[in-house]
Amino acid sequence: MAYVIAPPTPPSVAVVGTEDRFPVRRVYGIGKNYAAHVREMGGSVETDPPVVFTKPGDSVVETSQVRYPLATTDLHHEVELVVAIAVGGEQIAEAAALNHVFGYAVGVDLTRRDFQHRARSRGEPWDMAKGFDQAAPCGPITPASQCGHLSTGPIRLRVNGKLRQDGDLSDLILSVPSIIAYLSTMVSLMPGDLIFTGTPEGVAPLNRGDTVVAEIVRLSSLTFTIID
Ligand code: MN
Repeated sequence: MAYVIAPPTPPSVAVVGTEDRFPVRRVYGIGKNYAAHVREMGGSVETDPPVVFTKPGDSVVETSQVRYPLATTDLHHEVELVVAIAVGGEQIAEAAALNHVFGYAVGVDLTRRDFQHRARSRGEPWDMAKGFDQAAPCGPITPASQCGHLSTGPIRLRVNGKLRQDGDLSDLILSVPSIIAYLSTMVSLMPGDLIFTGTPEGVAPLNRGDTVVAEIVRLSSLTFTIID
């Protein structure tokens, strides 16, 4: 058997402490998962429960240079804790959910905010707001066997050295185990899935030439520059 065109290279992410890599299957995102961010987006926690969306697997990039995406004038940063799934399942019990986790990384859920506002007002899908090329920069994954499971501690993002987002993982509305349990009521989670767990307050535009540094307690930081 041969493919009629060259098959694309499967996306993958580095793993701290090894040459081996984590293969990426799907990318799930949780929106509206920190109360202060829900408020800054004009919503309320009472009326806007966390939402689920997806990004393409190949939107995950490790490159230190991220191209300013096409067709937007309002690219926003959203620093997020990324959960890497090693063991799949459906209807996963919250109490067992952490057994499905390989490890954690720092990610940035890049968002074309103008697309998202337009989609919201028209009742259209979020796909083009969230699912564009290079939309999911991700740092190396630290195995949970090294960093433990993360439920508290700083999550921060700086642009050109200036602190823009300064949250704490303990402010997640849906915790990591809750997210895994909830997602697995809707889809079969599989090895290789990544979950972007939502962003704290302070989201703001990025411009060409900006350097982004994203950090989460006990994880390797993520640095990239926005280029033309
Ligand atoms: Mn997000």
